[in-house]
Amino acid sequence: MRKPKNIECLYLDFDGFFASVMQQVYPKLRGKPVGVVPFAGTDRTAVIACSKEAKRAGCKNVMAIKEAKTICPELILVPQEPDLYRRAHNTLLSEISAVLPIDAIKSIDELTCRLDAHQQKNPRETARQIKERLEKYVGRYITCSIGFAPNRQLAKIAGKLNKPDGVTIWYPDMIPKALFALCLDDIPGIGKNMAQRLHKAQIYSVEQLLNLPPKHMRKIWRSVNGERLWYALHGYDIYAQKSERGMFGHGRVLPPDSRTLPKAKEIARLLLVKAARRLRREGYYSSRLMVWLAIRDGHWGQNLKLPIVNDDKALLDGLDNIWSRAEKEIPTEIVFRLHVTLVDISFASYRQIDMFLNDDEERKKWEAITQAVDGLNNKYSKTIISNGKWNPPKGGNVGGKISFTRIPSAADFW
Ligand SMILES: [Mg+2]
Repeated sequence: MRKPKNIECLYLDFDGFFASVMQQVYPKLRGKPVGVVPFAGTDRTAVIACSKEAKRAGCKNVMAIKEAKTICPELILVPQEPDLYRRAHNTLLSEISAVLPIDAIKSIDELTCRLDAHQQKNPRETARQIKERLEKYVGRYITCSIGFAPNRQLAKIAGKLNKPDGVTIWYPDMIPKALFALCLDDIPGIGKNMAQRLHKAQIYSVEQLLNLPPKHMRKIWRSVNGERLWYALHGYDIYAQKSERGMFGHGRVLPPDSRTLPKAKEIARLLLVKAARRLRREGYYSSRLMVWLAIRDGHWGQNLKLPIVNDDKALLDGLDNIWSRAEKEIPTEIVFRLHVTLVDISFASYRQIDMFLNDDEERKKWEAITQAVDGLNNKYSKTIISNGKWNPPKGGNVGGKISFTRIPSAADFW
C-alpha cells in the first residue's frame, strides 16, 4: 500500500448548497434565514435544507417545519427547485474544471480532484483560483469549503473543519495527530451504531481508535472496511472499491391531499415510470420491485419477484399486484411517504429469458412499445405518451427530487 509523501487530493464541499443556490438566484433571500421545503402550502413536512443564517439561529437540515419555525420565527420557507440545483451543479462543475480536472463527483454538492505537482506545492493558490472563479462567474452567495490531504478520506474530513468558505490543509506529517481533536462521529463511516460498538470496546476518542492495530479495527467493524478505514486515516492511499449499480428508485413525501391509498398509487405509478426510464437509459434490467409506505403507526412494505424486465407494462403490472395487497391489508391507511425501488439489477447484455414463464414473445412486444414511447418522449423532452394516466402531483418535481447523492438529469423532470 502506498503512503503519499505530499498532499495529493482536494475535496470540495459547497456550503449549505440548496439554500445558497436559492439565495444566489433570489436576491430577496440573501442574508436571511431560509429553509427549503418539499412543497409550498403546508407546515406538515420538514425543512430539507437551511441557509447559514437559519443554521446560526439553531435550525438543522431535516427538521420538522413547526419545530424550525418555533426556533426561528422569521424563517422564510421556499419550495425546492430540483431542476435549478441540477443546473447549478453543472455550472459550478464546469467552472471548477477550468481550474483543475475533477476526479470524482461524490454528490450534488461534493467532489474531489487529484493535484498535480504545481498544485501540491501551492494549495492555497489553487483554492483561491477556484473560489475566485466561482465568485466571478457564478456569484458570491454560493461558497465552498476545501480540504487538502494525502488522500480523499482525509481531505473530506479536513474540508469540514472550516465551514463555511474555508480552506484546510493537512500535510502528511500532521497525520494522524490532526485527527485527535475530532469526535468519533466526525469520521465518515462512524455512525451511531458503530459509535456504540466502539464504546463497548472501551474506545471513546479518535486517538484511542487510531492507536489500535489495524486488524483490531477490522474485528470491531466485523469487516475489512474497518481495516481500510485505519489505513485511510493514517494517510495511506486507499480507494473504496467501485460499487456496482444496486438499485433504481424514487421516494416522495406526499402532499396532504394525496395521502389516501388510491391517490398515493397515482404518485407511485409516476415514480415507478421515472425509475424505469432511468433503468433503461443506463442499460439495465430489474427482477424485483419493492414498495415501501410510511403510514400512521409505522410502515408497510412488500417486494415482488419479477421476470428480468425493464418495460413499463411489466413493472406497472407488478405495482398493481403489490397495491392490491396493500388495499387488502391497509385499506384505510393514510400514506405519508412512499418509495418504489427496482432491485436485483442486471446489465441488459446479461439478460436471461425466463423459459418457464414463457413470456418472451409478449415481453419483446412490450419492450418494443416502451422503446418507441421513450423515443417520442425524448424527442419532445416531455412526457407526451405514457402507459395510463400521467398526473404529476402538487409540488411537481416527481422523480427529480432533492437529493445529495444522486444528481438528476434533465430528463428526470418531465
Ligand atoms: Mg455541502
